[in-house]
Amino acid sequence: MTILNGKEIAADALAGCREQVQGLEARGVTPGLAVVIVGKDPASHVYVGSKVKTCADLGIYSRRIELPEETSQKEVLEVVAGLNADPSIHGILVQSPPPPHINEEEIIRLIDPDKDVDGFHPVNVGKLVMEDDSGFVPCTPQGCIQLLERAGIETSGANAVVIGRSMIVGKPMALLLMGRGINATVTVAHSRTKELAKVCREADILIPAIGKPEFVTADFVKEGAVVIDVGINRLEDSSRKSGYRLVGDVAYEEVAPKCRAITPVPGGVGPMTIAMLMSNTIKAARSSMDQAEGG
Ligand code: NAD
Repeated sequence: MTILNGKEIAADALAGCREQVQGLEARGVTPGLAVVIVGKDPASHVYVGSKVKTCADLGIYSRRIELPEETSQKEVLEVVAGLNADPSIHGILVQSPPPPHINEEEIIRLIDPDKDVDGFHPVNVGKLVMEDDSGFVPCTPQGCIQLLERAGIETSGANAVVIGRSMIVGKPMALLLMGRGINATVTVAHSRTKELAKVCREADILIPAIGKPEFVTADFVKEGAVVIDVGINRLEDSSRKSGYRLVGDVAYEEVAPKCRAITPVPGGVGPMTIAMLMSNTIKAARSSMDQAEGG
């Protein structure tokens, strides 16, 4: 059994990003990422902190915009409109989930598709469906694909089962897996799927993205399968200084011995997601530069 070390694989990807940032610097451009966070969700603040820190490590300019919980929809839209117009910002993301009174979809639609480094704008979703490489691919599924590729996992013709159909993970994950170059045969399971464990046992590659701690047990997993655990769940743990520990959607201890390869949580998909965000930001900076030079 191989543990797919997302931290190490992400570090490799980030080393490549650092070189690309230097290349852009040499052409006179510093990639810039704006991260907008509304409210106090503790996990979201941790994620935003990691994103901003990784930018600093790579030489990417970052702007963290923290808005109070009671910020109105109109105010958030104004902030996004300002970032759309700001030439020092190439990538914009609004950390999910915002407070319940905020309409996330309206905000996503306002983000300039050329700055939509999360890949959630309808234009980028469309480009993903059409396999048009000029768009931005959502970071988490893109990170999962890179994990598979860099670990040398054969995907062509493999049976892949994705659990979850969200716009952030499940749907784009399925599209990438069935796409050219990956060529898996894809099943998407979700909360209404019948006989879920049986469906999952067909998988050569199983990708749970559910948000339920240790939901996927050994009876979901075929001997020799590759398991990419997207879930990140906080469990209370008074023995930890933080008061919690992170677990995935997979019951790791019982599932790992059956697997050919598996990602741990933490240290699996999470670091890859951040690396892909950096890569998307660099792509945005490069294409804005190409456009400026071309026009
Ligand atoms: P979501 O709540 O939007 O979607 C969850 C999906 O799980 C839904 O499509 C639903 O149909 C499915 N589901 C729920 N209960 C089910 C059940 N009993 N059986 C089968 N399917 C069921 O969540 P999301 O945004 O897609 O995130 C999923 C998980 O991935 C969460 O734990 C989240 O924290 C994690 N996540 C991790 C990263 C990362 O960087 N590693 C990034 C994004 C999300």
